[in-house]
Amino acid sequence: MNSIFAGLSTTIFETMSRLAREHDAVNLGQGFPDGAGPEDVRQKAADAVLTGWNQYPPMLGLPELRRAVAEHYARFQGVALDPDNEVMITSGATEAIADALMALIEPGDEVVLFQPMYDAYLPLVRRAGGVPRFVTLQPPHWRLTREALDAAFSSRTKVVLFNNPLNPAAVAFPDEDLALLAEYCVHYNAIAVCDEVWEHVLFDGRKHRPLIGFPGMRERTVKIGSAGKIFSLTGWKVGFVMAAAPILKVVAKAHQFFTFTTPPNLQAAVAYGLGKEEGYFTGMRAELQRSRDRFAAGLTELGFATLPSEASYFLNIDLAASGIGEDDVSFCRRLVADHKVAAIPVSAFYAEDAVTSVVRFCFAKRDETLAAALTNLRGVLRRG
Ligand code: GLN
Repeated sequence: MNSIFAGLSTTIFETMSRLAREHDAVNLGQGFPDGAGPEDVRQKAADAVLTGWNQYPPMLGLPELRRAVAEHYARFQGVALDPDNEVMITSGATEAIADALMALIEPGDEVVLFQPMYDAYLPLVRRAGGVPRFVTLQPPHWRLTREALDAAFSSRTKVVLFNNPLNPAAVAFPDEDLALLAEYCVHYNAIAVCDEVWEHVLFDGRKHRPLIGFPGMRERTVKIGSAGKIFSLTGWKVGFVMAAAPILKVVAKAHQFFTFTTPPNLQAAVAYGLGKEEGYFTGMRAELQRSRDRFAAGLTELGFATLPSEASYFLNIDLAASGIGEDDVSFCRRLVADHKVAAIPVSAFYAEDAVTSVVRFCFAKRDETLAAALTNLRGVLRRG
């Protein structure tokens, strides 16, 4: 068997969701909203199942969805994309990442990764034959620095796999950091694979800045987005990948033999959704921001030290600053078993030099769910 996959454990998201079920705990681990999602978008999917096309759609995706993706990014991020040659639809962002890595990496190429990193990245890079070079980011700000990039980039750097906004840190990188990364990509002639699935989930008036928009990056960036995150429908697994035609052409070669296509009815519904008026997107953000604030206030009241959450579905606590001496993994195991709340230990997002004092909670939940979690958390810091 292949040693990379044989040696892996089950993902932390699956593990914690299973423990949540076993212990009948409130599941704030795996990142998914517990609301139904926008009804009009779901209605479009239902209509498309009943009256639309249910055979293979084109390999690159429905033309109407590719057009909708291009129009969407022109409208929200000022990125001009050719829907026929620079946009492809995938079965979720994870497939898009796998396609891009398989298409771009030659065995022995170096790939720069930023820790904490989404757990799929490293095994996929390794399986593609890439040699990982890590940049380790530090809480509470998780910023990029010139020294860290100097240590990670070399003449062998082929790809940089970058997630902005960053899961699990819940930060959006400032322009200064993005410009710095762009400078290194250009200097070392590297391609940036940018996982931007949280691009619409930013708070406090922040605006997403895509790396592809920085000088020198248009021809060397693979931009990846996710309808699951935009429409709070994470099970749909509809992703988009955008890149200059010569890159996208090769990424499509990987896609055609991994999944080939994505369900056409969901694609039709996403095409409709991407064209929704501004109010949907601001409303979705406002609602999530309200949940974030509600949950953060509850945690603070109970005595937990929270880290800033600028984006994503997540809010982190710092165990040491909360007066908890345990590491994140044992804390999370105790939390789910004894206090019936599932969370994610952030050390799961590291390959080496893990930060072990940060725990991630998903606040993209209904008020009742967050209230139940806060009630269960009441006993955790009660001393004596
Ligand atoms: N993106 C989700 C998270 O970070 C997990 C998705 C999954 O379980 N594969 O929680």
